[in-house]
Amino acid sequence: MHELVAYAANPATSRGRQFNEAPPAGRTEFQRDRDRIIHSTAFRRLEYKTQVFVNHEGDLFRTRLTHSIEVAQIGRSVARTLGLNEDLVEAVSLAHDLGHTPFGHAGQDALNECMKEFGGFEHNLQSLRVVDVLEQRYAAFEGLNLCFETREGILKHCSVKNAQKLGEIGERFIRKQRPSLEAQIANLADEIAYNNHDVDDGLRSGLITIEQLSSVGIFSRHLDSVKAQYPSLVDRRLIHETVRRMINTLVSDLTGRSKALIAQSHPQRIDEVRDATPLIAFSAGIQQEQQELKKFLHQHLYQHYKVARMSNKAKRIVTDLFRAFLTDSRLLPPEFQARAESDLPRAIADYVAGMTDRYAIREHRRLFSVEET
Ligand code: MG
Repeated sequence: MHELVAYAANPATSRGRQFNEAPPAGRTEFQRDRDRIIHSTAFRRLEYKTQVFVNHEGDLFRTRLTHSIEVAQIGRSVARTLGLNEDLVEAVSLAHDLGHTPFGHAGQDALNECMKEFGGFEHNLQSLRVVDVLEQRYAAFEGLNLCFETREGILKHCSVKNAQKLGEIGERFIRKQRPSLEAQIANLADEIAYNNHDVDDGLRSGLITIEQLSSVGIFSRHLDSVKAQYPSLVDRRLIHETVRRMINTLVSDLTGRSKALIAQSHPQRIDEVRDATPLIAFSAGIQQEQQELKKFLHQHLYQHYKVARMSNKAKRIVTDLFRAFLTDSRLLPPEFQARAESDLPRAIADYVAGMTDRYAIREHRRLFSVEET
């Protein structure tokens, strides 16, 4: 482990776990958190959850699992350069999408709509719920009993209404404070990862083209530089080399700008980081280019009619499942029946959110097709 700066999250001065445990041997507290996350059931389910493309659409598209690994890779590079805690960034990155429903944002929107009268559904809050409550792996406690700093990073967003019910972990949303720099890194590493892999996956799927993308500054700038250096390069290698350079540019910009912001703010302790303005950030120019790319992806990929058709099906599957269980809770699997007694809608949301894409499709068939059992 490299030398940590004074304002890094430090496992030795962690705010600790909800249930006291003996310190780990041979690894730090944050490494233990990362290991617990990797061994969780929710983590393995990420393999069969959609990022943009539904799992059965092709073998080479990103899933939430490969996405999370890419986020961790980018985040760790940034953390290492800035002298921050790589292990914490890795733990937060690997856990950041654990609460996502099947079928990406379409599934999340549908479930939130179903839960409207029952407290709503927020995927960040659900990720925290997965590690705090839903994972059943330890004899002594529910959930994974992660450190405060890891949980703080996982809870990226939260409505003030929900924050008020969360105690210590929700306080920063009420006081309008920031999380650790490690959590801020994981957040922006997420953005770098999905913008770039959605370009790559979008091109691979044929839903967007290089010609269309040439209208986007950051893409065309890097494409031109690759073409100038390698005039005969075409197809996948041209795309990969361009995307690789884009990621590089974003990572070095993020590192450089953050270094400058940290130097200006000159924090001495992690709590000063929490009180400061965000210190992990892109430069204004790159920020603007990222916005342009996001806007392009939104218009041309996320709203592409083929994606919209799948999203529409996904919403119907999630809504049908939710309504069926709400109408007759006996349809729920036994392990969710006990939870259903105290809060049926929440138990259904937990069950549905935990489903992989293909499990949700199968469960829908089991409930609604008379030929299936
Ligand atoms: Mg993500």
